[in-house]
Amino acid sequence: MDPRRVITAKLNLMLLITDAMRAPDEFSNLSVMNFELSKEQKDLLKQIDQACNSIRDYETECYLNEGINEKVVPTFASTGMLGLPISKKYNGKGADALTYALALERIGQEGSSLRTFFSCHVSIGQLVLQNWGNDEQKRKYLPNTTAGKSIMAFALTEPPAGSDPTSMTTKFEEKGDHYVLNGTKHWIGNATIAGVITTYAKSDDGKVSAFIVQTDSKGFRVNRIQHKMGLHSLDNGEITFDDCVVPKENLIGLKGRGLSIAYSALMDGRLSVAAGSIGVMEDCLNEAVKYSKTRVQFGEPLAKKQLIQKHIASIASNMESARWLVYRACAAKQKLAEHVEEMKKEGNWLENLLAKKNSDYTQLRNEADRLVALAKYYATNAAFDSANRAVQILGSAAYSMKSRAARHLLDSRASTILEGANEVLELKIAQSILGREYRAY
Ligand SMILES: Cc1cc2nc3c(=O)[nH]c(=O)nc-3n(C[C@H](O)[C@H](O)[C@H](O)COP(=O)(O)OP(=O)(O)OC[C@H]3O[C@@H](n4cnc5c(N)ncnc54)[C@H](O)[C@@H]3O)c2cc1C
Repeated sequence: MDPRRVITAKLNLMLLITDAMRAPDEFSNLSVMNFELSKEQKDLLKQIDQACNSIRDYETECYLNEGINEKVVPTFASTGMLGLPISKKYNGKGADALTYALALERIGQEGSSLRTFFSCHVSIGQLVLQNWGNDEQKRKYLPNTTAGKSIMAFALTEPPAGSDPTSMTTKFEEKGDHYVLNGTKHWIGNATIAGVITTYAKSDDGKVSAFIVQTDSKGFRVNRIQHKMGLHSLDNGEITFDDCVVPKENLIGLKGRGLSIAYSALMDGRLSVAAGSIGVMEDCLNEAVKYSKTRVQFGEPLAKKQLIQKHIASIASNMESARWLVYRACAAKQKLAEHVEEMKKEGNWLENLLAKKNSDYTQLRNEADRLVALAKYYATNAAFDSANRAVQILGSAAYSMKSRAARHLLDSRASTILEGANEVLELKIAQSILGREYRAY
């Protein structure tokens, strides 16, 4: 056969395969891609940068002493970081998904403890209320949390239910004008300092609902988790609901549809972890470059050695690849958010959305979900690999918790587990290509 015909046939087949994997208009706006930051984004990043620099030494001290950094809330309050993507109607800044990710990227340089505080407060905290709460709930809780008067947390994971939230055992019962919750949630970031959390429980029929719980409610208890591997300036807690009383008006969305809310929150959480991971890699690169240019062995700086340069090139390519996956996921997330805002102008939006009647919504959500999973899976693995390489370049100088690279290594290990462990995300990514009938998790 004419070799040109073989190549043409192969190309056609490749096009068919890639077309099947792409959303219809996925690349339609490539020609207008803009890699410049706007003046607003630059101004915001400058403020975030100043806030990060001003607490850098204290953050290290808190990390080494395993204590919460109580300067974070007052320091970041004026940057808008306590409610960056929250609507201006509720005293947020109304930032889009990319702008928020850029801010998390800068914060990630200071360490994943600090970034996780914001992920728990904003991404899987406030955004759950903004996306799914009713007007009354948003008015009651969002302004206080954007002002930093009340901190938020997200409590889904339980000792028997990690990657598979459907196996949760926390129960709720209706009693008069309130619900009563019983069960345990663990590893909950910000749990010990939160004023308000969102959580999930099952009714007798096995269906999951989502609730807002004030931490001063009767029957709410929290214990700090001790002896963590890393993330030492972030508190994680184990929460016990012991006949915990929750007013009826604190149900989020529709009864029995809590898992859709949890999965949507996890999408926001994953994107925040991915964005923060870019910052981790930037910091690892800075540390590695600085050290390798000054440390002399065998008569010249380590930076002159080819094997050291290989590590540096790998960190840089990890970081840049992750960056574009994250920014692309942000674009998909933003498109989804704008579509939902349009839907909210119509009556019964919640019913329509949860009943998956709106095929545009389903398509946009699946696309955002896929790209966010890819970004989180890649960026967190890349951050762990980059931190490991930075530690190797620094040698014994990094074998101490006082080393930024060492702390990134310990902390980025957690990022590959939380907000959807990376194996489960791999299966999710594969399923999005193979089809639902190949779901393997
Ligand atoms: C530091 C930290 C902070 C956290 N913060 C929060 C929080 O704020 N709120 C909250 O609700 N939760 C939080 N979590 C919990 C986190 O979301 C869970 O740890 C995560 O979902 C994984 O659950 P698991 O640890 O029970 O692991 P498991 O689900 O038991 O999984 C163990 C291992 O098996 C793998 N695995 C699981 N299923 C499959 C499969 N089908 N195929 C192949 N491999 C599989 C996983 O990838 C993982 O590597 C946090 C966890 C940590 C470590």
